Amino acid sequence: LVQVKEMSKSFHDNEVLSEISLSIEKGEFVSILGESGCGKSTLLNVIGGFEAPTSGHVLMDQVPIEKPTRRAIMLFQHYGLLPWRTVKKNVEFALEPTISSATERTKRANEYIQLVGLEGSANQFPAELSGGMQQRVAIARALAIQPELILMDEPFAALDTFNRYYLQDELLRIQQQEQTTVALVTHDIDEAVYLSDRIIIMDRNPGRIKKTIAITLPRPRDRSHGDFHYFRK
Ligand code: ATP
Ligand code: MG
Repeated sequence: LVQVKEMSKSFHDNEVLSEISLSIEKGEFVSILGESGCGKSTLLNVIGGFEAPTSGHVLMDQVPIEKPTRRAIMLFQHYGLLPWRTVKKNVEFALEPTISSATERTKRANEYIQLVGLEGSANQFPAELSGGMQQRVAIARALAIQPELILMDEPFAALDTFNRYYLQDELLRIQQQEQTTVALVTHDIDEAVYLSDRIIIMDRNPGRIKKTIAITLPRPRDRSHGDFHYFRK
């Protein structure tokens, strides 16, 4: 679905990503790990069409990705909710490009707000919610769109353990059911091993792919395979 070919990205003279090549198959769940500042968010931004590469190519089904498309949605590291809209309106608004009927948008929004357990907060504004609750709104909004490709930047980092495990399992269920392609940035090795088909580990200065590890453990998986030793071999 996605092909990145010898892609480099600089901000002014600072080369953040250097000659990155990777492809992501349709239906695949890929996690990206690496030290802070190695360019993980930048890589997702380029794949999502929010940043242009300085050189190289980024393609979706062989077509260059030049701007954000409806086929892909990005779940940003910092929620990206519209502060002047309620939870429900945030989700409904995001559905406008894909669902023309307002009734259908409301129905879909309610369904996904319920999925993340926020039906009691549907009419509140983002600022009235905790960080973890805002993140759940952002997750609901992303999943409600039912895109082909979801790019997620540390989506579970702000959540309590209960909601983190629950939403990881819901994401996995939806991803397997819909054959959604997911690229997830995380600092959590356990999470990456639990969810992914493949883990990409990045180096920094400049950001490069250090190695790629296929995770072949059967599903459903235990939650304790993210032992660091797993990554040493
Ligand atoms: P973290 O794990 O802390 O989220 P990251 O791997 O996501 O880090 P990026 O946010 O991609 O890292 O940043 C990589 C480098 O690119 C950093 O040195 C950062 O300062 C630089 N950078 C990112 N975005 C910009 C920008 N818009 N303008 C200039 N420099 C940027
Ligand atoms: Mg980041």
